[in-house]
Amino acid sequence: MAADRATTGSRLAALRSGFAGVVAASENSNADDEHDPEGSTIAYERSQLSALVAQAEAHLAEIDLAVERIAAGTYGRCAVCGAEIPGGRLEARPTASTCIGCAAVAARQRRGGGSR
Ligand SMILES: [Zn+2]
Repeated sequence: MAADRATTGSRLAALRSGFAGVVAASENSNADDEHDPEGSTIAYERSQLSALVAQAEAHLAEIDLAVERIAAGTYGRCAVCGAEIPGGRLEARPTASTCIGCAAVAARQRRGGGSR
């Protein structure tokens, strides 16, 4: 189990550096496109890229939280009910912080169906 978490930790670290690379690459490309004759193409590419960067940054935040949970020893446990998160779910989504049941409840609440 501890080895599992170490593997997940290094996988997350690899993901993190990959995403950080995307963010850095886009910052570099922003720097010199003002003088580019193909400005509109660049602008289009940049809007595509900034969507990617926004996604990458959201992933990065999730990854940081997962790494913190590994350090705190709470990784693999549901943040809501404390149940063990099934290995298959963590395999599919290593940054998952809740079990499938609690994730479904949260999704239902986000849709506004809940009565609070
Ligand atoms: Zn739960």
